[in-house]
Order: sequence, then structure tokens, then C-alpha cells
Amino acid sequence: MAVLSVPEQAGAVLTANPRMLIGSDWVAAASGDTLPVIDPATEATIAHVAAGDAQDVDRAVRHARDAFEAGVWRRMPPAAQSRLLYRLADAIEAEVELLAHLETVDSGKPLTLSRQEVLQAAEFVRYYAGWPTKIYGTVNPVPSDMLSYSRREPIGVVAGIAPWNCPLINAVYKVAPAIACGNSVILKPAEQTSLTSLRLGQLCLDVGIPPGVVQVVTGYGETVGDALVTHPGVDKVAFTGSTETGRAIARRGADTLKKISLELGGKSPGIVFADADLEAAVSHLFSPFGVWYNSGQICVQASRLLVQREVHDAFVESVMARSATLRLGSPFEPTTELGPLVSDDQLGRVLGYLDLAADEGAEVLMGGKRAEREGYFVEPTVLACMRPEMRVANEEIFGPVVGVIPFDTDDEAVAMANGTEFGLAASVWTSDISRGHIMADRLQSGVVWINTFADTDSSVAFGGTKQSGYGRECGEESIHTYTQTKSVYCRLQPLWS
Ligand code: NAD
Repeated sequence: MAVLSVPEQAGAVLTANPRMLIGSDWVAAASGDTLPVIDPATEATIAHVAAGDAQDVDRAVRHARDAFEAGVWRRMPPAAQSRLLYRLADAIEAEVELLAHLETVDSGKPLTLSRQEVLQAAEFVRYYAGWPTKIYGTVNPVPSDMLSYSRREPIGVVAGIAPWNCPLINAVYKVAPAIACGNSVILKPAEQTSLTSLRLGQLCLDVGIPPGVVQVVTGYGETVGDALVTHPGVDKVAFTGSTETGRAIARRGADTLKKISLELGGKSPGIVFADADLEAAVSHLFSPFGVWYNSGQICVQASRLLVQREVHDAFVESVMARSATLRLGSPFEPTTELGPLVSDDQLGRVLGYLDLAADEGAEVLMGGKRAEREGYFVEPTVLACMRPEMRVANEEIFGPVVGVIPFDTDDEAVAMANGTEFGLAASVWTSDISRGHIMADRLQSGVVWINTFADTDSSVAFGGTKQSGYGRECGEESIHTYTQTKSVYCRLQPLWS
């Protein structure tokens, strides 16, 4: 049999009938509706995926519940669950080229970054593959005529609702810990980027994870997403996305008192002190893996750069010099550093903020407009003369736009850094490590990086404070959000003796 090239394999995925994974079957939406897959680099419609609705969600919930009650997964020996999760990680890694190609054509992310994210997704699954054999309970210190133990049990049916910015990573962030704890999970990818989540569903079946344990229902947020959030058969919603949608989900999930975890937006400060190694700070923050990563469409983007006044001008000069050579272009070109934004909607949102920045009196040091080429490209943009009270200094733009704001004292930096509704991430740049740790203590933020930026590790809890959400992903904390405690008391001497 002829071996297909990666573009041929991707072509086969794109021309396949629009189907989603319900139970063990690949099915069209009950309504027959589809939604377009648009390549953001060319603005062309390249495929369609099924646009599900409440009927499809209801079917998926029944399968998920049946699998959970039958115990096909949660009662499987933990070592066997582990083995299947390790196989899933290997299967993702074995398909790195196909998955990366699909991610790039779907989201516009440069292929070099997509490859890296697929490998990161495989490592993440591998990390959780180790957990089924390590979820311990406790034996409790009750009086000696009693035995009491507490065990961690799966919650039941989990809905994982994901955003479009890092589609496969966000998908495995939901699926891997949910099933490592014995739950059934229904994954709803963002309507802009469903392709790698659908492929993940197939890989779960291929490695032998029983049908109904992982399902993928595609469609819009207000239909599929809302149906999952309000369905009485869904026990938990794990959501990553905007703060606005997170609030709506918390409200809509209240009627059924669902357990909800929310990974939301940010307006993360990067605080550069005068004693920092300025060149190191700029080259790290302004690398393609820094503020321009994924064209700025990352939740932890250091979109507010607070720079101590005595080095402000030198910092800006260094940023301009470094950014002059940034390569914006086709995401399939190996030299491309910035691809397009994900969609026409996102382009409109970012351009709207650029207009607002001008209205509010910010100075555009570079960029500031749509790139003159096909696709949803925006030039990397640095704004100066920002004041903390401006909307562009407080609201999440989610594009290749950063603003520089000067400060004088540590107290002023802390007040500005903590002065938005968000509290997701912050970075501190200083050669005084004690000052770095003091700042880490004072910042209202789920993550603080000192002299580094955007590092994550599967073992380290990640998530936001304030309006950036609640609950944590990664590490052991994720195990706690996908399990609940049951306490058992047993009298050792029968009452009747
Ligand atoms: P979004 O909130 O528009 O959509 C996210 C997901 O929610 C999509 O799958 C969407 O279909 C679904 N959805 C939309 N409305 C819904 C509703 N009423 N009920 C249920 N589901 C609904 O977010 P986005 O534009 O896809 O993603 C960008 C946002 O995600 C940014 O704010 C970014 O900061 C945030 N984000 C946060 C993290 C984090 O870990 N904190 C990571 C990545 C992205």
C-alpha cells in the first residue's frame, strides 16, 4: 500500500465527511448542520465539521454516563489505565507531523510552533499516564473502635470546553487528567479549531480506551457549549476561554450546581526593574516564544510591560532593534515567526483595540495596523505613552499588541500590576533575587516568573486568581479537581456485642 505524504493525509482529513465522535461512532450532527473550517492564512474555506446541538450533546451524555456506570474504564485496574494513557501519548507523538499540519492550517500557528505543541501535548498525556496508580486516599485518625478512610473517586461525566489558541494542548489539558481519575469526558473544541481534537478522539479509540470514555462533540459555544453546561447529566465543566464566557458558564451551570473550573483571560504584567539585565529581558520577552508567541494569542502574554523609568528609553530602543527583523508570513514557511490571527472576528477585535489605543492617546512605536497581504495578519505592535487607566492597558486584546508603561518605585509597580481585574500571570526582571521573591509574594497572580517568561511544566499547578478564574490545571491539583472525596466510617466492635 502506498504511504501517503503528510499533506495527502491532511487532505484526506479535510475532505472527509463532517463527523463527530459519539460513543464508538463517527456521526453527522443530528440536524445535519455543518460549520466551515477557514484557513486564517488564506481566508479560504478548506473543510466543514459537524455543527452539533443539544440533541447530539444528549446522546453523548448518555454514552458517557453508560460507560461510567458500567465501570468499563473507572473499574479497570489502574495499571491498565496507565498503559492505555502511555499508548495514547505515543500515538500523539507518532502523528506529530499530521497533527502539526492540521493545527497550522486550522489556527494559523506557525508549523514550527505546532510541532512543538503536539510534542508538549504528548508529554502532558504521559505525565498523567503515571497518575492512575498514585491516587491515594487517607486512613483517618478516629477513635480506635472505629475505622475511617477517605478515598478519592471520579466525579462522573466531565465536559471539557476548550478555546482555539492552543487547540490540542487545551484538549489534552482536559482529557488526560479527567480520564486519569476515572471520569468519562466529552470534549468540545472551539468552533474555529476542531481538527486536532477530532483526531485525538480517533487516537483514543485506536489505543483501546473504551467507547464513551472520550467523545468529541463539535459545534458552536451557544449551542453545544451551553447544552453541556446546562445538561443535568454532566457533573463537571472544565472550561478554558474568555472571562466573559466563563462568567456565563458559572451562571448557567448554577441551576444544576455543577462543579466548574475556569481558566480565563489575563492582562499579564512584565515588570522590568532598572537593575535587570536589559538585553536578556528584551531578548527573552521579545523572542517568537515570548510576547509574539502565537501572534500574541496566549492567555499569559506579557501585554503590559511596566518598565522602571531610568531604563524606559533604553528598553524601548532595544525592543525596536530586536523587533525590526521579525518575520511575518505563511505559517508553513520554516522561517515564519508570526502567523495570522485565528479568524476574521479576532482580526476585527484586535483592529478595534488599535483604533481605541489611538483614541486614548497611546503612541504607536511600531505596527499598529493590518498587514498588507491576504489572511488575518496584524503587524506586531508596540504602544508607548500608555497610562494605567486606559482601556487598552486594562482589557485583554489577545493579539500581537503590547504596551509599555513607566514606573518609579516598587510600590508603584505592584499597584499597577495588581490594578486590573485579572490575575493570571506576571514576570519580574531584576538582578536582585530577593526583590524578585518579594514581588512574587506581593503580586496577585496565579503564576509568577522571575527572570524568565511563559515556562510551564505538566507537574506545576497553573491557573488564575481574581477574574482570571478558579481551579488549577497541571500537577496534582488537577487530580483534585477531577475527583471528589468519599469518607467511610466502619465501627470495629458491632453495636450488638
Ligand atoms: P471563548 O470564551 O470565546 O470560547 C472558548 C470556548 O467556549 C469555545 O469552545 C466556545 O465555543 C465556547 N463557548 C462560547 N460561548 C459559550 C457558552 N455560552 N457556553 C458554553 N461554551 C461556550 O474564548 P476563545 O476566544 O476561544 O479563547 C480566547 C480566550 O481564552 C482568551 O480570553 C484567553 O485568555 C483565554 N485562555 C485562557 C487560558 C488559561 O489557561 N487561563 C488558556 C488559553 C486561553
